Amino acid sequence: MPELPEVETIRRAVGPHVRGKRIIHTNVRATKLRHPLPPELDRLLVGQLIVAMDRRGKYLLLRCKGGTIIFHLGMTGMLYLVKASSPHGKHDHLDLVLDGSYMLRFTDPRRFGTIIWTDNDPLQHPLLVAHGPEPLEEEFSAGYLYLKRHRRKIPIKQLIMDSRVVAGIGNIYANESLFRAGIAPQTSASDLSPDKDLLLVDAIKGVLADAVEAGTTSIGSTSTVEKPQGYFPYEFSIYGKEGRPCPKCGSAIRMMRLGGRSTFFCPHCQK
Ligand SMILES: [Zn+2]
Repeated sequence: MPELPEVETIRRAVGPHVRGKRIIHTNVRATKLRHPLPPELDRLLVGQLIVAMDRRGKYLLLRCKGGTIIFHLGMTGMLYLVKASSPHGKHDHLDLVLDGSYMLRFTDPRRFGTIIWTDNDPLQHPLLVAHGPEPLEEEFSAGYLYLKRHRRKIPIKQLIMDSRVVAGIGNIYANESLFRAGIAPQTSASDLSPDKDLLLVDAIKGVLADAVEAGTTSIGSTSTVEKPQGYFPYEFSIYGKEGRPCPKCGSAIRMMRLGGRSTFFCPHCQK
C-alpha cells in the first residue's frame, strides 16, 4: 500500500510534466472507486489548466485553475503519464488527456482509490482538514511528538500511524522507523522515555527521506511514459522479514499483530 514516499515519488515524476498543461478531454471508465466519481467530472475538468501537483500525507492534489482533483491511491492505485494513443486496460479508470501528446492515467486494480473534485481549498476538505504536520517538515519535532504522545496509552506504533498526529506514515514505514530508532513497537506512547522523542523523529525523517530518494532514483525519467512496475525500490530493513537475520545484530526478526497490523521487530535491538 503506497505511503508518503511512494506518493511523493509519483508527485516528483509526474508533477513537472503536467504543470502548465490543459486538460482537453477525459475518459472516465469507472463510476465508483472508494467513493462515487462525480457524474459531471468530464464537464468540470475539460478546459482546466493544471497549475501544480502537490502532496498532503498520502493524498495527491492536482491543482487546476478552477479547483483541485484530490487523488488517494488506496491499496493499488497508480498515477502516471502515457502517450495519448495508448490503449486502455480494464483497471484504467480515468485518463486526463492533456494538450501535447500525453495523458495522465489513473489505474487501480483493487479500486480502493479515491478521486474527488473540489473548488474550495483542498486542505480544508474533510479528508484532509484533520491531518497533522508533514513528517519531513520542521513542525514535526521531538517537542511536538512529546506533546502528542505523553498522555496516550496506545502503542507508539499506532500513534505514529495516526494521520491526525503526523501525516503519511502507514504500516510499512512505522515498522521501519521504529526499528531504526530501536524502539519496541508495542511500547505505550505515554511510557516512551523523553530521550527517545528525538531518536524517533530523526528515524522517521531519515527512513522517509531515504525511501523518497530510492523511489526518485528508480523512476528515472523514462517511466513517466510507461506504467511503473511497482512502488517499493527502497530495501526494507525489517518489514516482511520474519525469521530473517536482523541487519544490526543477526537475531531472528519476529512478527506479531498489533492493532490488527503485521508488526515486525527485533527483540534484541528494539526495547
Ligand atoms: Zn537486532
